[in-house]
Amino acid sequence: MAVDKLVGRWNYPTSIRFGAGRIGELPAACRELGMTAPLLVTDTGLAQLDMVARAVDSCRRVKLDCGLFSDVQSNPVEANVTAGVEQFRRGHHDGVIAFGGGSALDIGKAIGLMVGQNRPIWDFEDKEDWYTRVNVGGMAPVVAVPTTAGTGSEVGRCSVLTDLRDHTKKLIFHPRLLPAIVLEDPELSIGLPAHITAAVGMDALSHNLEALCAPTYHPLADGVAIEGMRLIKEWLPAAVRDGSNLEARAHMLIASTMGATAFQKGLGAMHSLSHPCSANLNTHHGLTNAVVMPYVLVFNRQAVEDKLARLAAYLNLKSASFGAVLDWVLELREAIGIPHTLAKLGVHEEHAAPFSRMAEVDPSTPSNPVPVGAADFERLYLSAINGRL
Ligand SMILES: [Zn+2]
Repeated sequence: MAVDKLVGRWNYPTSIRFGAGRIGELPAACRELGMTAPLLVTDTGLAQLDMVARAVDSCRRVKLDCGLFSDVQSNPVEANVTAGVEQFRRGHHDGVIAFGGGSALDIGKAIGLMVGQNRPIWDFEDKEDWYTRVNVGGMAPVVAVPTTAGTGSEVGRCSVLTDLRDHTKKLIFHPRLLPAIVLEDPELSIGLPAHITAAVGMDALSHNLEALCAPTYHPLADGVAIEGMRLIKEWLPAAVRDGSNLEARAHMLIASTMGATAFQKGLGAMHSLSHPCSANLNTHHGLTNAVVMPYVLVFNRQAVEDKLARLAAYLNLKSASFGAVLDWVLELREAIGIPHTLAKLGVHEEHAAPFSRMAEVDPSTPSNPVPVGAADFERLYLSAINGRL
């Protein structure tokens, strides 16, 4: 790479407290950030579970006036943020506990942002310098508690929202959307069903893999990404096979955080293809990435061959080659029950053309290692729909 490309402007993540049982430190983390009345934001399903009630109680026991907001859907929308902001203001809250999978974390972070703004949330989309429009002083502090191991949103500086005006996924960005404190407790992911464990685990793989393949110069991210993938190779099948394997859960939790840490560098066409499917057909984000993964690898082959050969050596695959990585991905998908075609997820040939136009302008597209236009995306969709690798 030419010397003039050896440049970067890099941030690395935040205060992470990691380990089984660390959820017990939640009240102290809230106090550390100056909260007296946190609002715990989670999704509707999780709100029924004991772990949420216990988290709220642990705060209330030490006189933190903790509220609960759970009107968060998967593939969340602006209305989820608006309702949370209203509850935050009504309850005189002064901080957010973002608790759950990607949707709950993203909405919790977005609520923390929007309680201090007068502009609509779309004014803070990840474009040019739009983040400078944010009134930083109005933002509420956020403690993030991930309960799945996939999105890594606990260390992300974006919230992903579906914009119902044009059915696209948009990134809301501010450097301070990165939560100030993250509590990572693998015990919280013990109850996650096997098929969700598989799907979110593949999301973590797609983050590490797309970050490694992204063409910008960022050796810090590359180093994080390859170790993230080693952990996934060693531990994702075990976590899917036996959800109570705490060691597997712990390694997958940090691998997920590593994926999102690495993808500050950029993502690629896996996410570009996946976002229109989720925004229009409500397909699961991680599952969709998992299905399109090998098709994108093949499309990018020329640009990533050397990198993936080095990855293969590090992962101790059968040979140090692109083909060994591709075979590993195919075998892993099969072993954990990921389908081979987008058709199995309800994406069909008639979706290929309209989704390609959305994929072309997706925020993940510019960092794909090979330039990719609407016609390429259409071919990729048709390959993935019909299972032609
Ligand atoms: Zn993702």
